[in-house]
Amino acid sequence: MQYFPLFHHMDKRACLIVGGGTVAQRRARSLIAAGAEIHLISKEILPALESLLIESGANFEKKAIDLTNLADDYMLVIAATNDRAVNLAVANFAKANRIPINVVDDPSAGDFIFPSIIDRAALTVAISNSGNSPILSRLLKKQIDAYLPAAFTELSDFVGEQRQRVKISIPEDSIRKKFWENILQGTVAEAIYAGKEQRAHGLFESALADPEKFNLQGEVYLIGAGPGDPELLTLKAFRLLQKADIVLYDRLVSDEVMALIGPEVELIYVGKNRDKHAVPQHDINHLLVEQAKKGKRVVRLKGGDPFLFGRGGEEIQTLVDYQVAFQIVPGITAASGCSAYAGIPLTHRDHAQSVQFVTGQLKDGTVDLDWTELISPVKTLVFYMGLKSLPIICESLIKYGMKPDTHVALIEKGTTHDQRVLVSTLKEMDAVLASEQVASPSLFIVGSVVQLADKLRWFDA
Ligand code: SAH
Repeated sequence: MQYFPLFHHMDKRACLIVGGGTVAQRRARSLIAAGAEIHLISKEILPALESLLIESGANFEKKAIDLTNLADDYMLVIAATNDRAVNLAVANFAKANRIPINVVDDPSAGDFIFPSIIDRAALTVAISNSGNSPILSRLLKKQIDAYLPAAFTELSDFVGEQRQRVKISIPEDSIRKKFWENILQGTVAEAIYAGKEQRAHGLFESALADPEKFNLQGEVYLIGAGPGDPELLTLKAFRLLQKADIVLYDRLVSDEVMALIGPEVELIYVGKNRDKHAVPQHDINHLLVEQAKKGKRVVRLKGGDPFLFGRGGEEIQTLVDYQVAFQIVPGITAASGCSAYAGIPLTHRDHAQSVQFVTGQLKDGTVDLDWTELISPVKTLVFYMGLKSLPIICESLIKYGMKPDTHVALIEKGTTHDQRVLVSTLKEMDAVLASEQVASPSLFIVGSVVQLADKLRWFDA
């Protein structure tokens, strides 16, 4: 660690800024916001900075700095001129008077540097890379800022208000620690994030009335993991994943998404094993309930979107029956992910006015679909789970009136580094399947929009 971070009271502390440009302006603005008393000296001062100084009642002088005639009781000094010699002279003055000094653009000549700051009232996040690249710090700040829930400050205030009360009410350290962990990661925090303050208070009061019972109230998050690329997770999915005690996942969740889960989290695979036996749906439903009732935060992680061919509805029904709290986080479904990464817009004014998601899964050896209802020259069809039944699908679409030269695309392992896009036509798909080994998961897109793939291809171009 090259610099040690400290958070300092600035209220009514006198600070000297030498310089009147954009950097001086940035420093002045943040110090004024923190309540500092600014004294700024510079021959020239940017008009916007001057207005800021006037508005905030700061003391400023438009003149060259005269170091022989300067007070020595500043809490800190900032040398922000564009003249290196002047900055160094100011630094020497500060050092002689043992005042911490910051020299703009020359961190080593000073004592401290300014971090990039995320300012959310009581919550402050300061970022530094030891002055190597302020731009990099600012970029990281943007990422962290986007990741912080909007109502993080409200949560932080809420905790601040309740802290003493909880300390008295739950004297036992271990119970209190678990209680706070559950409050900050469970339904109370989520209610605050959702802007439901009153609900949060209600939940908090009942939790405090019986902390031991509360500590046994877990939650389930049904999360859509998207089609494969981990960056297609939503911010909410990512945030809730970080809170998991246990994750139940299946085959479609990519390794890259699984890699985002911390090593301390228990993982339970509930997909098909090598003998193709999956954990029965009924058992999964009850496993979720059982784990939540132990006070755990359970993530049920599913490929794509949990409500699209994902049996998410059935799992949630059981949770409702057993009164387990839950949240549902939608995911990017395979149709959206694969079509985007293959450069095939699902609708397009020149090609398709509607799109239909269809399951192509065989039921007792047949594909049980209303074929006439599917067929339209201005519609895109997306078949999920249809690899085995592809020949029947192509044959039936032609039989019920679709043009044999309609464009089709088979997308294998869409959005991952192994993505393959096979473009063909309905009548030629058989030949493609005969010559190519296609693996699961793969998705079949049928319709005029597929013609655009050639031109709009980008991901694996
Ligand atoms: N809930 C999921 C779909 C589950 S059904 C979703 O919303 O995406 C499983 C089928 O989804 C697979 O058989 C395959 O057809 C499709 N699928 C899922 N991920 C895929 C991927 N990365 N590439 C191609 N197809 C995918």
